[in-house]
Amino acid sequence: MNLIRNPQSAIRNWMRDLFKITWSAFLFYTGLLFLLQFISSRRKKGGEVFILKYHRISNFEKGEEAFPFETGVKVEDFERQINYLSQRHRIISLKEVAAYLEGESELPPLSVVITFDDGYEDAFLLAYPILKKYGVKAIVFISPAYTGTGVISWRDKLTEIVRMAGLSEIKQEAANLNYPDRVREILTQAELDTFKDRIDVLKDLTEFLKRIDDKEARAAVDNLARRVAWQQGDWKRHLNVSWEQAAEMAANGIEFGAHTLTHPPLTKIASQQAMYEIKDSKQEIEQRLGKAVSFFCYPYGDFNEETKAMVKEAGFMGACCSKYGVVERGSDLYALKRIGMELKFDAPPGRFSKAIFAVEMSGLADMLFFRGGL
Ligand SMILES: [Zn+2]
Repeated sequence: MNLIRNPQSAIRNWMRDLFKITWSAFLFYTGLLFLLQFISSRRKKGGEVFILKYHRISNFEKGEEAFPFETGVKVEDFERQINYLSQRHRIISLKEVAAYLEGESELPPLSVVITFDDGYEDAFLLAYPILKKYGVKAIVFISPAYTGTGVISWRDKLTEIVRMAGLSEIKQEAANLNYPDRVREILTQAELDTFKDRIDVLKDLTEFLKRIDDKEARAAVDNLARRVAWQQGDWKRHLNVSWEQAAEMAANGIEFGAHTLTHPPLTKIASQQAMYEIKDSKQEIEQRLGKAVSFFCYPYGDFNEETKAMVKEAGFMGACCSKYGVVERGSDLYALKRIGMELKFDAPPGRFSKAIFAVEMSGLADMLFFRGGL
């Protein structure tokens, strides 16, 4: 389809993919990548760390079932990634990053931190056995409102609604005056023929709902859930870890961080409410797990100077955001950039490529893939 519409860009993409996989395979299998890595780690002063941001781990095949696959990494691919990282990189904790940024210590070369946002049950069921198998540390950011409560966030309810909805159900709801105008507009224009159509509807609804009052957003989604996809929805797949599961992970090298109580966008709510979300999530997780909670993660990556100050005041040692980037000397400890792992490390036709992953993780990808150059 693309090829017919835009043959030039399709050919260009194909050439770029081919270059990427052949070049990566050459660098990786000849060992040249590791030589370059070694030379660059000796030349670089200070060091840098990649903080990896995982979200969901899935055991679904790519396709409708895995909806929306952008935030997920398949469990087999996750194991390949962890296996590789545990051999070639140093997997460290956020505390070590904090010590480095405060000038108290150096970073080992090729440092990596593994983080999970939201603490879905798949972090326990699928990721944790792999982390344990390779003896790898990680931090999971959780929100107590969804931990062990059986409560599903409105974002996940919406995902399930859009995944399972029939077009006639959606069109019927478009006429329901109880919804905000923008929601009705999106429902009216919704197309659900393809996987991409559904992703678009989900994105449009989420973008709008996360900007309005959280209670209103929840009410709108609950209303939708009662009328659309209620029977067919597989709601259980959106559960978060229980406190028992979290305690087991915490006893085996997994750290827990706070992600607020209810996952609101912090700059869009009243300051007092934001402070309560930040402080009380720390306290509740500490009480439940009997361990200090030292790091925070901004829901939706939404923060400003005021939120940063609140996080400091609440006693956190640092915080992760969702901006893409590498952490190095001088980076902001209260806005730690990360690398989203929903990024594709696939070689055509869609299989995980260890060679591409290795180049991306080497810290030399910009140079080796001629990004910004060619
Ligand atoms: Zn989150």
